[in-house]
Amino acid sequence: MSYQERIDTLKRELRAIILAHNYQPPEVQDIADHVGDSLGLSILASETNAEVIVFCGVDFMAESAKILNPETTVLIPEKGAKCPMAAMCTAEAIREMRKRYPEAVVVGYVNSTAESKAEMDVCCTSANAIPVVRAVEADQVIFVPDGNLGAYVAKHVDKEIILWDGFCPTHQSMTATDIASLQRHNPGAKVMAHPECTSEVLEMAEIIGSTEGMVTALSDDGEYIVATERDMIHRLSKTAPGARFHEVRGSVCPPMKMTTLESIVRSLETMTWKVELSDDIIRRARIPLQRMIQMGR
Ligand code: SF4
Repeated sequence: MSYQERIDTLKRELRAIILAHNYQPPEVQDIADHVGDSLGLSILASETNAEVIVFCGVDFMAESAKILNPETTVLIPEKGAKCPMAAMCTAEAIREMRKRYPEAVVVGYVNSTAESKAEMDVCCTSANAIPVVRAVEADQVIFVPDGNLGAYVAKHVDKEIILWDGFCPTHQSMTATDIASLQRHNPGAKVMAHPECTSEVLEMAEIIGSTEGMVTALSDDGEYIVATERDMIHRLSKTAPGARFHEVRGSVCPPMKMTTLESIVRSLETMTWKVELSDDIIRRARIPLQRMIQMGR
C-alpha cells in the first residue's frame, strides 16, 4: 500500500484531517486536505468537526490549532519541528515590556509560543498585521516577536510601534544582493516578498504580502522572484501553472522540512505527537487569537 493509501485509510478510520502550511514539502502539500497560511489554517482548525487534526507545519501552528479547538486531538508529526523565531520572545519578556510601557497594547505575531500568546492582547498574522494594529485602541503598540514585520507595519500605521528584535532566520538570510542578482538575470521578473524579509529586500519588492497574499497577486503569464520559503513556489505553481518563478538563495526553513509522508503515517498510527497545553494557557491564549479572527478575517 502506498503512503497516500495508508494515510487515506487512517484518516477515514480516525475521522482525521490533514492541514499543511504553504512551506511544507510538495509531497506533503499534495496529500493535505487543506494547504494555507497561519490565519487560514487557524480558522479551519477552529471550525472543523474532525476528531483529529494532523498539523503539518511547526510547533506554534499546531499549538494554535489546539488552542482554538481544545476538544480535538491535534497531532504534529515531527516533535522537533520548532520555529526559531517563536522561541525568540518569552512570556517573561512580554511581562517586562508591559512594565516599561504600561499604556501600550501588545500585538503578537502568531509565530510565537502558546505561553507568549497568553500574555498578548491580540494576535496577528502577516496577512492582517496592519489592519489589526490600526484597529487596536492605543497609540502605542508593543509588537513581538518579529522586528522586520513590526518595522513594516510601523511604516503603514499612525502609531508608535515598540519593536522586539526577533527575526526569521530563513527570511533574514535573503539579501538585497541576492535579489539584485536575480533581477539582473531575469529582467522581466517582479519581486514578491514576505514582510518577514529585511527592509532592504522589501524596498526592492513590487508585491509585499503573506503567502496567501502572494497567491491572490499572481498572474498566469507573470514571472516572479519569490522572496519567501522555497516550497511556497509549489503552491504558486499549482495556482498559476503558466507563470515562472525564481527562488532566492538560502530560502529553506529546516523545521518545515522535517515532516514526511512516513512521519504522517506514523503520527496517525501511533497518535503522536499530541499537542498538550494546560487549561490555563489554552484559556488565556485563546483570547488574543479569537480577537484576531474577529478583527482580521
Ligand atoms: S519560515 Fe521562519 S518564521 Fe516561518 S516557521 Fe520557518 S523559521 Fe519560523
